[in-house]
Amino acid sequence: MIRDPQGFEIFLGKLRDFVRNRLVPREAEVARLDEVPADVVAEMAAGGLFGYSIPEAYGGAGMTTEELVLAAIELSQCSVAFRARVGTNTGIGSEALVIEGSEAQKQRYLPDMASGRLTGCFALTEPEAGSDAAALKTTAVRSGDSYLLNGSKCFITNAPIAGLFTVMARTDPANPGAAGVSAFLVERDTPGLSTGTPYAKMGQAGSPVSEVHFDNCRVPSANLIGGEEGRGFKIAMKVLNKQRIHLAALCIGPAIRMLDDIVQHTANRTQFGQPVGAFQLVQAMIADCQTEIHAARALVLETARKRDEGIDVTMEASICKYFASEMCGRVADRCVQMLGGYGFIADNSIERFYRDVRLFRLYEGTSQIHQINIARRTFGQAGYDIKS
Ligand SMILES: Cc1cc2nc3c(=O)[nH]c(=O)nc-3n(C[C@H](O)[C@H](O)[C@H](O)COP(=O)(O)OP(=O)(O)OC[C@H]3O[C@@H](n4cnc5c(N)ncnc54)[C@H](O)[C@@H]3O)c2cc1C
Repeated sequence: MIRDPQGFEIFLGKLRDFVRNRLVPREAEVARLDEVPADVVAEMAAGGLFGYSIPEAYGGAGMTTEELVLAAIELSQCSVAFRARVGTNTGIGSEALVIEGSEAQKQRYLPDMASGRLTGCFALTEPEAGSDAAALKTTAVRSGDSYLLNGSKCFITNAPIAGLFTVMARTDPANPGAAGVSAFLVERDTPGLSTGTPYAKMGQAGSPVSEVHFDNCRVPSANLIGGEEGRGFKIAMKVLNKQRIHLAALCIGPAIRMLDDIVQHTANRTQFGQPVGAFQLVQAMIADCQTEIHAARALVLETARKRDEGIDVTMEASICKYFASEMCGRVADRCVQMLGGYGFIADNSIERFYRDVRLFRLYEGTSQIHQINIARRTFGQAGYDIKS
């Protein structure tokens, strides 16, 4: 659903200009510094980029799912680090608060997140609980009017720069599954919370990721999300359900950008006396990229619209994330191929995207986890309860 189609078209045009004229020229600098410079962050904050999915009542843009994915497709046509910088606030770092937070929690944190003054992150994964996230071991033990958190999280995007952590921890040790988990809001300066050294990564330079440790970290019970214990895993799944559609859109932008760049290259690079783009084997790769981008875009938009209508899109969200992330990987691989030897040489956009987009198939549910989810739900729709 697009609330004001004409106004939204103007907004998308401005976002497109901002990405091309302000962000793309800074890509090499971000890769070199391994951070998004403060002046760029300030410009993104001034443009409202941190608040896309935060309700208007708290200073955000209150985008519908369709609006959010269209904005994401534009914003992601540049180095992944830029959208990762704002992406936890427009996704997993704010969503639990938006959907299940109390009014007091929302008032306290959402305006600062919408303005970019506060960066959020989402801490679910642990060393022993990755795909099997419900097996998490971090504990939250009630102690008077607060909870004592102990344990460690790993691979948490934006943890090194976050001011607010949405943390999933086990409040019921007798229940080792999903029902024993609760969700908490933990402020960075809470004694007992620390973050590790940012990981050295294969790609996405400029997007910091680290471990998070809790050592008798005392969190006020008022920071429990959802008002009661045991709802944390359900909240996390609700967050991820929407985020999977959002992330699928964020896989489409890089694919569009890679195709744009490779079209320029293949139209101008001459071999055997003609542009390499004139060779039909190269054209087949161009056509496959374009076709798959269109398919992913149509799938994501249809799913976003269904979600806005209130339809349950749990399976479709998995399909979007699975298809768009794998599509983006295939586009990256073809574009390296079409670039020839230069595609293997560092410091061009295709080589960087090739490394950056590899993560899409791993986080927020690996491709295999989504395949399982899609297959199970397909059996379920046919009346079968098939489990591995
Ligand atoms: C850079 C980065 C950023 C991240 N950001 C965040 C974040 O902000 N917050 C957060 O909470 N987490 C984050 N993650 C964690 C990410 O979501 C997990 O890495 C992911 O869920 C996979 O878990 P794992 O790494 O433990 O792999 P594992 O679960 O150990 O999987 C290993 C392999 O086994 C396969 N596998 C596992 N179970 C099954 C099964 N049942 N059937 C078939 N195959 C299976 C997987 O598909 C994979 O191929 C991030 C990870 C990275 C690398």
